[in-house]
Amino acid sequence: MGDIVNVTRTDEIAVVSVNNPPVNTITAAVRSGLSRALDDVAALSGIKAVVLCCEGSTFFSGADIGEFEGPPKEAEFRALFGRFEALSVPAVAAMHGAVLGGGLEIALACHYRVAAPTARFGFPEVTLGIIPGAGGTQRLPRLIGADKALELILSARPVTAGTAVEYGFVDALIEGDLRAGAVAHARSLLARGEGPRRTSARTVDPTTATDAIFDAHSKQARKQYPNRTAPLTAIEAVRASLRMPLADGLLYEEKLVNGAKATDECRSAIHLFFAERRTRTVPNLPETAKPLAVKSAGIVGAGTMGGGIAICFANASIPVTLLDTSEASLASGLARIDQTYAVMVERGRLTADEKAHRISLIRGTLDYADLGQADVIIEAAFEDMDLKRTIFGRLDDVAKAGAVLATNTSTLDVTAIAHATKRPQDVVGMHFFSPANVMPLLEVVRTPLTSPAVIRTAMELSRPLKKTPVLASVCYGFIGNRMMEGYAREAERMVLEGALPRQVDSALEQWGMAMGILAVFDMAGIDVGVNVHTANADRYPPDATYYQADFALAEAGRLGQKTGKGYYRYEKGSRARHDDPDAIAILRARASQLQVPQREHSDEEIVQRCLYPLINEGFRILEEGVALRAADIDVVWASGYGFPRYRGGPMFYAETLGLKNVLAGMEKYRMMFGPMHWEPAPLLAELARSGRSIADWERAK
Ligand code: NAD
Repeated sequence: MGDIVNVTRTDEIAVVSVNNPPVNTITAAVRSGLSRALDDVAALSGIKAVVLCCEGSTFFSGADIGEFEGPPKEAEFRALFGRFEALSVPAVAAMHGAVLGGGLEIALACHYRVAAPTARFGFPEVTLGIIPGAGGTQRLPRLIGADKALELILSARPVTAGTAVEYGFVDALIEGDLRAGAVAHARSLLARGEGPRRTSARTVDPTTATDAIFDAHSKQARKQYPNRTAPLTAIEAVRASLRMPLADGLLYEEKLVNGAKATDECRSAIHLFFAERRTRTVPNLPETAKPLAVKSAGIVGAGTMGGGIAICFANASIPVTLLDTSEASLASGLARIDQTYAVMVERGRLTADEKAHRISLIRGTLDYADLGQADVIIEAAFEDMDLKRTIFGRLDDVAKAGAVLATNTSTLDVTAIAHATKRPQDVVGMHFFSPANVMPLLEVVRTPLTSPAVIRTAMELSRPLKKTPVLASVCYGFIGNRMMEGYAREAERMVLEGALPRQVDSALEQWGMAMGILAVFDMAGIDVGVNVHTANADRYPPDATYYQADFALAEAGRLGQKTGKGYYRYEKGSRARHDDPDAIAILRARASQLQVPQREHSDEEIVQRCLYPLINEGFRILEEGVALRAADIDVVWASGYGFPRYRGGPMFYAETLGLKNVLAGMEKYRMMFGPMHWEPAPLLAELARSGRSIADWERAK
């Protein structure tokens, strides 16, 4: 058991090594340890160089995001990193693993930098709504020029060690023992008579910092990050590195980063960062309920979802048996899996050997008996209650005692499915999103009968499957799809009122949704929605226009991209949307048949009419206890439905708008369109009127 920071010496070289598992975050303890280490080094006699390195899987992976909520720490970082830069002997950073944010900044403050060939370097800050705030925007342009510095900071993506050498902020790559290599590198510097090489002594190469270069980056940033300010703030900070000495530039950078931290954009991203880490915490489950270690899995249904889920298991090295009803459907399912892996190999994301290994973990079968040893079985057959109940009956016969029996249903009552077995306590919903091997969200749906251990197993299984689990209780649509109902209803209603599909989708996309909802329907298949609406007609409100845009298009054979036409028209083999007068004529005809009054729609109205009902339903879900926390609802929408992370999710966004304003919006549209769809949720109304926040309510609960 050593300290977090240790100083050792090899002849005339001091090695400062840090060990703060798991990823060497630069916490307050690390900072004070480093500061003490520098005192210790100063007290040693005859030291001619200093090497800074980290133990474990990585060099410093960044600052401690947990400190975001407290008082600003930039001055402390600046002073500490400045001490490295001020050392009177060469300081060499020896880096491996993921060198990110503050981790890269401390390295930039050292005089020399060497790295393992597998190391990666990046500044993810702009995705958190901030900018590098511990020298990154001032030192990096001095080292590699403003153009490349902006590329790295604005892309927010890590680059390889090879690129780092090419850009010029890493001096050498070290094969084998990094620490020994860094010490040898320091020795060779000394042998060549090299001294400290301070970044503060350098100026930015003006050819890399012309107005044209800055303009090009601003233009690209506005396009890549609409509605966001952090990327533009980063550009402003880098610009300052041209005209200010380092010390002044660092103070200016600090001012900018503290301004950025106060934006909704940053608060939203930080909110989601923590929200995603909290979803696995389920209150009121007995400690004795332990998750089952899942060593093998079964899947029923080798279609779109079953295949994607099988890939998740194989990627996690968990063998999985995939069952379908015929050789033909099984073969086509397995072929699709092979194809998905083939594309990954083609794109260099997987080697051919890894592909072969993963495929070897997936076995097809037509025989239920082959599922008998699986620890968890996930059903992903057609969305049909009778069929699912039959399947669960079969699973009850073959599954071993204690196996978790899960359904991937999107809309059916999981409790009714559970009752098809003699072990309803073992049945749970595991609702993956399409494509299941890509989308991070997993809604875990518990029935009143699901046992605590089964809930824990499903939540914990999300770790190897690399999913973000959110726990929901049984209700129609669970969390995500239930909130989708009003959002989609209004979008469809507005096209009946005369808005063009493109107008609705563009307004939503400009606001920040990853894709407009009508384009989503074209992609998913309009018939998929129509089937769900038809199956649930008995739940419909008495509104003759309800989802009628979908019905009108489907009845005309316009099923979306797969038929080349839906809300839009598509050229063969392309996903580009074209406005289509035929679609508009069909929608207009349906509107006139239903006597829908025609009106003009501003972008503001489109966004409000789609988002207010969505938020309103979120309040109902929260009050009913369908979701454990408002933050869980935000995670569902940010990770499963393309809600912009920089807006924090629907519940967080509602608070940035002001609950009073959301309530006023609901009331305004209730006046315009009547109470059927516009009744404010009681919890929203109560909080808006009393001025309490969602957090206040959650604490009091
Ligand atoms: P799909 O039609 O692509 O695949 C269904 C598969 O189940 C087919 O291969 C079919 O042959 C097989 N099957 C049918 N009856 C069977 C039986 N009795 N035993 C074994 N296999 C049987 O459907 P999908 O899109 O993969 O959807 C599957 C389930 O996942 C549905 O409940 C659906 O609601 C749900 N879901 C779908 C999506 C989506 O976007 N597609 C998203 C989330 C959840």
